Amino acid sequence: MSYVTINKLSKCFGEVTVFEDIEFTIEEGEFVTLLGPSGCGKSTLLRTLAGLDKANKGEIWVDGVDITHTQAQHREIGMVFQSYALFPNMTVEDNIAFGLKMKGISKKDAKEDLQKMLALVELGGKEKCHPHELSGGQRQRVALARALIVKPRILLLDEPLSALDAKIRKNLRQQILDIQKELNLTTIFVTHDQEEAMLMSDRIFLMNQGEIVQQGNPEDIYTKPVNEFVASFMGNYN
Ligand code: ADP
Ligand code: MG
Repeated sequence: MSYVTINKLSKCFGEVTVFEDIEFTIEEGEFVTLLGPSGCGKSTLLRTLAGLDKANKGEIWVDGVDITHTQAQHREIGMVFQSYALFPNMTVEDNIAFGLKMKGISKKDAKEDLQKMLALVELGGKEKCHPHELSGGQRQRVALARALIVKPRILLLDEPLSALDAKIRKNLRQQILDIQKELNLTTIFVTHDQEEAMLMSDRIFLMNQGEIVQQGNPEDIYTKPVNEFVASFMGNYN
C-alpha cells in the first residue's frame, strides 16, 4: 500500500460539487504538485485532506490508517497558506511554538525543537521579532517552521510562493526543496504556475474543474499531454 491513498474523494458545498471521485496515491518522501488554473479546486482538496473541510464521500488513508473521520488537529498533517496566516501580535518564536501548544507541549519543553526549526528555516536571531518586522519570504518561513515543528507525516503547501516577488520566490523555492529532501517529507505543493511545478516536482497532478486530468512526472506531462487542456496549460511553460 502507498503511504497516502485517496479513494473516490468528493466534496461539495450545497449544490456545488467542487470535486468528485478523486483518486491518487503518493509514496513516502515524494514531492507532488497539484497544478491547475484558479478555481479548479486545489485549495478545497488540500483543506479536505487536512481536515479543515469535511469530505462528503470517499476515504483518506495515511500510512495504513484511515483518517477520513479524524479531526484536523489529530491528523498529523502540516499546512502552509499563501497568506502566511501568522498571529501579528505574537513573536516569531511564539508563532512557531503555537503548533505545539495545540498538542499540549509548552514552549519551555520545546526549546531545543524551536532552535532546530529556527535554524532549519534560517531565522536564527529573529525569534523575538514580530511578523511586521519580517519580509514576505521570512514570514513564509515562519509559517513553514510552525507547520514542521509538530513533525507532520504530510506537508501541504497551498501556493506558498504566490505572494512573493521573483527573487525571494526563487530562493524560497529552493529552501522548501532542500528542507523537504532533508526531512524526507511527503509533500503536496499547490500552484497554478506550471514552471514552478516543472522545476520542483517528482510528480505533477494536473487538475481542471475538479478533476485530476493527468498525473505523471514533469517530463511526461510536458511531452505526452493526454488532451488539449494539458497541452495548452503546459505549453505556456518555456
Ligand atoms: P483553487 O484553489 O484551485 O483556486 P478552490 O478550491 O479555492 O480553487 O475553489 C474551487 C471551487 O470551490 C470554486 O468554484 C469556489 O468558488 C468553490 N468554493 C471553495 N470554497 C467554498 C466555500 N467555502 N463555499 C462555497 N464554495 C466554495
Ligand atoms: Mg487556491
